[in-house]
Amino acid sequence: MTAATVLLPWMSHTRRLRVAVVGAGAAGLCAARHILSRQDTFAPPVVYEQTKQLGGTWVYEERVGSYDNGLPIHSSMYRNLRTNLPKEVMMFPDFPFDPQLPSFLPHQEVLRYLERYCQSHNITPHIRFETVVEEVKPISTETEAGKVTWEVTSSCGQRGQRTETFDGVFICNGHFSDPHWPSIPGLECFKGKLLHSHSYRHPEPFAGQSVVILGAGASGIDISIELASINAQVILSHSKPPLSFPLPRNQASPPSGPTELGLQVRDQLIYPLYKFLLPPTFPSLFIVGVCKVICPFPHFHCQVQFALAVLDGSLALPSHEEMEEEVKREMERKTGEGVEARHLLKMDSDQWAYYRTLASMGGFSPLPPVTQSLYEEVKRQRERHPLRYRQLNYQLVSDTQWEMLELHPES
Ligand code: FAD
Repeated sequence: MTAATVLLPWMSHTRRLRVAVVGAGAAGLCAARHILSRQDTFAPPVVYEQTKQLGGTWVYEERVGSYDNGLPIHSSMYRNLRTNLPKEVMMFPDFPFDPQLPSFLPHQEVLRYLERYCQSHNITPHIRFETVVEEVKPISTETEAGKVTWEVTSSCGQRGQRTETFDGVFICNGHFSDPHWPSIPGLECFKGKLLHSHSYRHPEPFAGQSVVILGAGASGIDISIELASINAQVILSHSKPPLSFPLPRNQASPPSGPTELGLQVRDQLIYPLYKFLLPPTFPSLFIVGVCKVICPFPHFHCQVQFALAVLDGSLALPSHEEMEEEVKREMERKTGEGVEARHLLKMDSDQWAYYRTLASMGGFSPLPPVTQSLYEEVKRQRERHPLRYRQLNYQLVSDTQWEMLELHPES
């Protein structure tokens, strides 16, 4: 088989396609928004959300440990978190933040933004809250050779379990909720308190204490600054040049049972995922947002539209073998450059070419160039002024230009 010859069996569909979305965080909401805008081809999605609320990461939860129903607390948000990307870069490209707000926002504003996104696209009626997806399983149909449908089994409190069938599934379960504990010899002998940043909420309990923070990623830096401000004695331990940014916070938590999908999960890498998104063997399942060091919302915006082009048949994928080969080549290239397995999903400056490729293959508008140029500028500022970069304010002037405004009065 040559490139662009895999025909998905539902390409000549006569009925609207049913799509399940797992998770009502930013990625799941983005998937729902685009599915709802294509009612000619897609039935309204079913969005499963295990908690009572939309927003995922951006729902601050004072408690640590578990919710009342025993599920682990999902969000790693801390009380004083402000975004590390300006709202002009962070936004979904088709849905700006309130222009009155400063560029770097407290987490509550991001949640408000996602609520507004939902309201504006009428997504909420399609979310099933307090409904946990327990299993996603491919089913071959005997009537149509090669056709796979998906059985999604969910459970919802007293109402119990339910299994439904879909043509496609978006896995948008988030990748920052499963704390990664590095293996450090002798750690078990440490007599003090051990805490993962997933369970850090505010600095007060550490006043006057001496604290070693392992890792100078965005959370490590933020937390060091907070602790130092309440007179904790802080040692920031890391292997990077002084105060380097940004690093991933946690490990990826893949959907359960992926080996059945022909995927391997090891060292925080899910492999092989064509275009970091779909298993070549099952190209109607999309694992959204597994990459690291990205602009998450614009990233979801591109991945979701690419996935819908695959599902509606307007994008003919290469053969299964060709997709696997491409992923393998790319991983070998990076490994050859000395990138460790656990960093293979890091994108950073590679993300721009990736978004352009998705847009050109998927037939949708690429991100405006200003997203890249402002992201690069903020990255420079963050490296130079890690303590002060959030005081700056920006404004988008056009698709290609931004300007820096005077300091925000609250800064
Ligand atoms: P999540 O927001 O985690 O949402 C996943 C949803 O899926 C949750 O609601 C969860 O309850 C639900 N779910 C999971 N499993 C199931 C299941 N089995 N059944 C049903 N529902 C399920 N990004 C930025 O752009 N700017 C920032 O400044 C920034 N700061 C961050 C700070 C912290 C501390 C963290 C952890 C992340 C930060 N991020 C930031 C990245 C952030 O994770 C992304 O912006 C984005 O919100 C991730 O969205 P998501 O939908 O992929 O995942």
